[in-house]
Amino acid sequence: MTSERTPEETVARLAQSLRLRLEDDGRAGRVAVPRAAHEPRAPGVLRVGMSPAASAAGSPREPTAEAVGDVHLPRLSRAPENRAADALRKELATAAQHTEGQDLFDFGSPDLEGGVGREDALKRVADEVAQCTLCKELADSRTQTVPGQGDPNARLVFVGEGPGEEEDRQGLAFVGRAGQLLTKMIESINLTRDQVFIANILKCRPPANRTPTPDEIANCLPYLMRQLEILRPKILCALGGVAAQTLLQTRDGITRLRGRFHPYRGTLLMPTFHPAYLLRNYTKDARQKVYDDMLKIQAELKK
Ligand code: URA
Repeated sequence: MTSERTPEETVARLAQSLRLRLEDDGRAGRVAVPRAAHEPRAPGVLRVGMSPAASAAGSPREPTAEAVGDVHLPRLSRAPENRAADALRKELATAAQHTEGQDLFDFGSPDLEGGVGREDALKRVADEVAQCTLCKELADSRTQTVPGQGDPNARLVFVGEGPGEEEDRQGLAFVGRAGQLLTKMIESINLTRDQVFIANILKCRPPANRTPTPDEIANCLPYLMRQLEILRPKILCALGGVAAQTLLQTRDGITRLRGRFHPYRGTLLMPTFHPAYLLRNYTKDARQKVYDDMLKIQAELKK
């Protein structure tokens, strides 16, 4: 089966789905992966590009990959594009494994390279999000993207599921009714919204606020990962099951996950109930549980 995507699009999509970052550099791409564990702070660079020879010869161009640094990737042989893409996927998956279990924030963010400040780096991610059309349905139906906002130096980052109607209208995360409750949660530990960063797994509103599909999550997660690499927070608070399960890569439910810190790539992740759930179940018990979770975050921030 021949893909309708150009090879460039194929490579970009593969990198996205593997949560690697691809910098568009004409026909070549640049994907950030860490070097071997003994050099945790040195990001290796995986070059991903198109085969110039095949291109010049007028034959269908193939994605090719070669590694710089400690990640060795064989050059892909000439093959129909889908076979080359499969092979590239495998190679990139191998490279991606180097990041699994490793401290996500222990190697530099490529977005901060060249002395770029956190604010500018976050803006660059937001600008890319604004152009994103990976999820056609969401891109077609959104009013605007909702990249997330807050203090670029925040030590605490909240991650929700995805924008709702009001967020889609304003382009800001958690500004509707659930957002007002989140504000109260933040203020309950003597912080303000300006002192934290608030983002979502999805940067576009799913129509009728439906649950994000696995494809949508896979498409969008790399943007959040880049934001987290830039922010390097001390604590992450996952709001609700979708955020917690996505970040922790588990199927366990929020009731089981909440209430304790989970080590998360060099930082600590506290799952708690989503404020929208609290609005629907405004019981003393549920509110107390969320407050308890917030107090644990407060105590950890003081350490
Ligand atoms: N719910 C979310 O998960 N995120 C928002 O930004 C708003 C509501």
